[in-house]
Amino acid sequence: MAAHTLALIIENPSNHHEFLLVKQPRPPKFHDQEYDSFVDSDLWDLPSALLNPLQPGSEPPVAVEVAGSHSEELNLGQFDIRSALNEVFLQIGFGEVEGGEWKFYKYIKEAAFGPGLPHNTVFIAGKLVTEDVALLDSHKWMSVQSCLNLLLEVKPQDDRVGPLVVVGHINNSFDCAKWKVPPAINYQEYPPGVILIPMESRTAKPFSTTNLVVFAPANASNDCEDNNFIACGDALIVDPGCLSRFHGELEKVVTTLPRRLVVFVTHHHHDHVDGLSVIQKCNPDATLLAHENTMRRISKGYIFVFMITDDWSLGYTSVTGDDEINIGGQRLRAIFAPGHTDGHLALLHKNTHSLIVGDHCVGQGSAVLDITSGGNMTEYFQTTYEFLKLSPHVLISMHGRINLWPKQMLCGYLKNRRNREANILKAIEGGAKTLFDIVAYVYADVDRGAWVAASSNVRLHVDHLAQQHKLPKDFSLETFNSSLVEFADTMGISMKRMQ
Ligand SMILES: [Zn+2]
Repeated sequence: MAAHTLALIIENPSNHHEFLLVKQPRPPKFHDQEYDSFVDSDLWDLPSALLNPLQPGSEPPVAVEVAGSHSEELNLGQFDIRSALNEVFLQIGFGEVEGGEWKFYKYIKEAAFGPGLPHNTVFIAGKLVTEDVALLDSHKWMSVQSCLNLLLEVKPQDDRVGPLVVVGHINNSFDCAKWKVPPAINYQEYPPGVILIPMESRTAKPFSTTNLVVFAPANASNDCEDNNFIACGDALIVDPGCLSRFHGELEKVVTTLPRRLVVFVTHHHHDHVDGLSVIQKCNPDATLLAHENTMRRISKGYIFVFMITDDWSLGYTSVTGDDEINIGGQRLRAIFAPGHTDGHLALLHKNTHSLIVGDHCVGQGSAVLDITSGGNMTEYFQTTYEFLKLSPHVLISMHGRINLWPKQMLCGYLKNRRNREANILKAIEGGAKTLFDIVAYVYADVDRGAWVAASSNVRLHVDHLAQQHKLPKDFSLETFNSSLVEFADTMGISMKRMQ
């Protein structure tokens, strides 16, 4: 089962190099001056609508020309293409669809980003019957080249071009990467040259995969020695964290990539480093980049349940933040991004302004801070503001789908955490003195099974409140800290889980 979208590539009747793009609706405002001051630039993409299964008794289907080779993969006859086309035409102000020539163009199955059903897309290309088309302000004709200019040489305030036009159209006519993803491995390439391969990993629900990010640009770089790059290579991969039964797939990726390989690890969690041993085996010349706090935990063998993560016994290059990496002439900037852990790094791909945020954000829902590995709320807020300042064009988290409204997402994180913190302060001002009292107040509506995980969040917020001098005078941090034992007793867990 999958959800389906219909996307249209409509050729400009007076210039066949151009096709129609629609300004995408923005997510709702916060109605808060601070958050609403961070505005993502306009996003343009192909016109599209949900494609539902054909119901009995529907109007006769719209004729779509399909080349034979695609018919096995997808039965277009089972979808209500007429309704989807009518919806798109209504959006773009062309009235109901009549006439026109529609050709099946492409079927893209989404890789396993999750959570929930994959979102597959049927691309149909066509021409309008009339040349007399008046476009609304929210629509424009663009050529592949002008889209590429916006995608590959990004200036922060530039308009942006979305993924439907890239995976449906541009990637056909433009090869950004020299490397080809091995067959049978599902991936997504957006923006051009940024390849995401979701691989099954030991990650937390609702996700089941970690995104392996791969850069392998078409050009080889020669300008390494002239500059102060922390590392140079012909390819880069980020967070090889798949389960051992997928090590074969990772091996295929690593062995087909250029030998001058740079491996970047955002942090030490097992679902980000479980595949390091594969890289070490397949390409011992690879350069590993990580923060020293991350490396310390990787090399001592990070223990999780009864397993020890695969080790990396070769050397590594320590990254502190603000270091530049050169991959095939393209620049990436490593950014120190503590909060989730104290060694957490992010990575900005400068040409496309794609920001790889590690576990600072996840594709859906809120990210967890790891109190056992230096997770820190004050730093989490600071890092979030650093990310906002960078004005990324897309956020790439390691779990789930990419986010196309980066500032909106980051402000949403700030808002949710501030609301939670205000609730915690309310509990304290109402007389709560212990960890249990605060958790029981703030998470009263949440299943008790989630309280242990929630308790570390409360502790991080209390630290943050203390740092901001917001705690009432009669609240004793000493009493609060010594109440951890009581909390563990009441919840029936060992103190070890509270570290
Ligand atoms: Zn993590």
